[in-house]
Amino acid sequence: MVLQDLGRRLNSALQSVSASSSIDEQALDAVLKSVCAALLESDVNVLLVKRTRERVKKLVLPQLEQIQAKQGTEHDAMAGNKAKQLIHKAIFDELVALVDPGDDAPPAFNPVKGKTQVIMMVGLQGAGKTTTCTKLATHYQRRGLKVALVCADTFRAGAFDQLKQNATRAKVPFFGSYTETDPVAISLQGVQKFRSERFDVIIVDTSGRHRQESELFDEMCQIQDAVEPDMTVLVLDGAIGQAAEAQSQAFKEASDFGAIIVTKLDGHAKGGGAISAVAATHTPIIFIGTGEHLHDLEKFSPRPFISKMLGMGDMAGLVERAQEMAMANPERQENMMKKLEKGEFTVRDLKEQMQTIMNMGPLSNLTSMIPGMGALMGGDTEAEAAKRMKRIAFIFDSMTTEELDSDGALFRDATPAASGKGKGKGKDKGTVATTGGAKGAKGKAVATPKGAAASDSDSD
Ligand code: GDP
Repeated sequence: MVLQDLGRRLNSALQSVSASSSIDEQALDAVLKSVCAALLESDVNVLLVKRTRERVKKLVLPQLEQIQAKQGTEHDAMAGNKAKQLIHKAIFDELVALVDPGDDAPPAFNPVKGKTQVIMMVGLQGAGKTTTCTKLATHYQRRGLKVALVCADTFRAGAFDQLKQNATRAKVPFFGSYTETDPVAISLQGVQKFRSERFDVIIVDTSGRHRQESELFDEMCQIQDAVEPDMTVLVLDGAIGQAAEAQSQAFKEASDFGAIIVTKLDGHAKGGGAISAVAATHTPIIFIGTGEHLHDLEKFSPRPFISKMLGMGDMAGLVERAQEMAMANPERQENMMKKLEKGEFTVRDLKEQMQTIMNMGPLSNLTSMIPGMGALMGGDTEAEAAKRMKRIAFIFDSMTTEELDSDGALFRDATPAASGKGKGKGKDKGTVATTGGAKGAKGKAVATPKGAAASDSDSD
């Protein structure tokens, strides 16, 4: 989960308020101390932390005094609860403010079918640019758009191979060259080619450098002039913490980019620092990178982000994700609805629904969107659940057409053996298919693009 440690520490600070018997200024100071310590450890700028602390105190203290005046009366318990809610809300709102770039909302960028939009990705080497290009391509592809990738990174050896490999895996058309050394020429050729083929979204991956240098900025501006992107996106490594502020300022001065994607927020303790530093520069963050896999890209929105981090879920995000999956294959969803109306549900339907869930991304991404669920699913439990789902996917892949199109009744007798009780003794058809499938289907599933086991999250 994104910024799991920070989320856990903030959550436990808020829990301590709920558990405390009396709420006064001392209790407020204690919770703020824990919150500030957690933020500082995540490399949030000390001035921003100080501001957060002061704002919460300024808001809460006068109201707390009023509530305290009622304590000791018959409304004691109610007043206590009100004080706790007040502190929770004030801290939550200030955490949101910390990652909110303010009025500078992300520029409207909603690619639609039938109109070519070009996105140019810039950033330092190693920030996660190439990986993010493919993730973004997958994101738009899932929305039913025709997407292509152009590799204009002629600086890093192997950059084209990396993009090619990622694009092939994501089944996204790509353009690049082993011989052309001029990034401006390549990007222009690629964009022209895909424009003429009426692609909806063309993503251009540009070169990075180890550090900010004039050569990188010159090249960036030349490509920008040549391909005239509809949106330029800066990819920033979240692991750099509050140094993200200086980096985004430098890029901003060199070229006019529209938005930022902060990567590597899954494993790095400094991610909170990076997001708050970027927000402080009033630059919109549109997505965050939450892992190395294709689906590990999340839309960024301050309130749902903080809510999820604190284990309070993001139901709107979950609904959106489910709608995205339905949009990717509307025919299948419609057929499913018709069948369900008629009371039909086969093993194949179950397989397809499970594949849909697996394609929605790692289970942790989904569970963290359901309030309270993230906390219930510890890291190990999630890994176990993912393993179980993969095992079931292998079992489905080993089934015959007759078995898949059945209502599953023919497996009923095989249940004890299939559940492992009859280990090694199962003679019935169901058991043989089950165990044989679980072992033998792996190669087949990986080679089958549509198979659930072929999804990128399977490569763990
Ligand atoms: P580029 O030089 O900017 O194109 O960077 P790459 O796309 O090659 O990424 C550099 C490394 O960061 C690779 O090992 C990626 O797998 C990894 N990476 C990229 N995005 C993320 C992310 O969101 N989370 C994690 N954990 N790793 C990432």
